[in-house]
Amino acid sequence: MASPPSIDASAELLQELVDANHILHHQGIVDAFGHVSVRHDRDAARFLMARNMAPARVQPSDILEYAVDSGEALTPDPPRLYLERFIHSEIYKARPDVMAVAHNHSPAVLPFCIARGALLKPVCHMAGFLGGENHDGPALFEIRDHAGPASDLLIRSRELGAALARTLGPARVVLMRGHGCTVVAESLRVAVFRAVYTEVNARLLLQALPLGEVEFLTAGEADATRVTNEGQVARPWALWREQAQRSLQATEAK
Ligand SMILES: [Zn+2]
Repeated sequence: MASPPSIDASAELLQELVDANHILHHQGIVDAFGHVSVRHDRDAARFLMARNMAPARVQPSDILEYAVDSGEALTPDPPRLYLERFIHSEIYKARPDVMAVAHNHSPAVLPFCIARGALLKPVCHMAGFLGGENHDGPALFEIRDHAGPASDLLIRSRELGAALARTLGPARVVLMRGHGCTVVAESLRVAVFRAVYTEVNARLLLQALPLGEVEFLTAGEADATRVTNEGQVARPWALWREQAQRSLQATEAK
C-alpha cells in the first residue's frame, strides 16, 4: 500500500517503522496496545508513528507525521491518535540523541513496575543496556506524583510526557508504575532490540530470584556487552522481520 504523499520521510524508514510494529507484536512485546515511533530522517522536529491501531495491523498508509513540539499529528483532519503520543513527543524534545521510542506493557516487565524496591538490573549479557556506568537500572515513574491518586495511569498530556522524560533522564528504559515501560535508542532497530531484551531480562530475573542470590552484571560488563550486542542488531532484525512477516501472511491466508 502506498504511503500518503504528505509524508516526506524516506520510504525505507516508513517500511522499517511498519516492520518494527510487526516485530514487536510477533515477539510478544505489544498486543493490541503499545506503540513505536521513529524520529523523522529529514527533520528532527518531527517524528513518525501510526494512527491509533493495533501494531500488528499497521501498514505504511497508517503512518502519520507528528510535531515534536506539540505531540499532535501534522495533518488537517487527523484520524484517531494514540492517547499516549506525548510519551514520544516529550522524550524526543528532551533527548536530542533519541531517534526511536517504543512504549509497551510487556508482561514480565510489569512485576518490576509493581513491586516496591524491585530493580530491573541486567542479569544477562543481551541486556547490558539496562545498566552500565552511571546506570542503576531503569527508574520507576510514579504517575501519582504528577496526576494525583485517581488518574487512568496514561500519559495523556504534554505535561505528563515531560514528567516521564525527566524520570527517564539519560537512561535507556523507564518503568511506569502499574503500567509498563518505555524504551529509547539511537535507532529504530536498537529500540526494538532493547524492548525485546528488556522483557527477556525481566523474565530471567524472575526465574532466577527464587533459586538464590542473583548476580547482576557489573557496570563494566553491562557497558561492554551493550557495545558488542548493539553492533549486531542487523542479525536479530532480519530474523524477527522474517518471522513476523511469515506469521502475518499465515494469519491472512486463514
Ligand atoms: Zn501504555
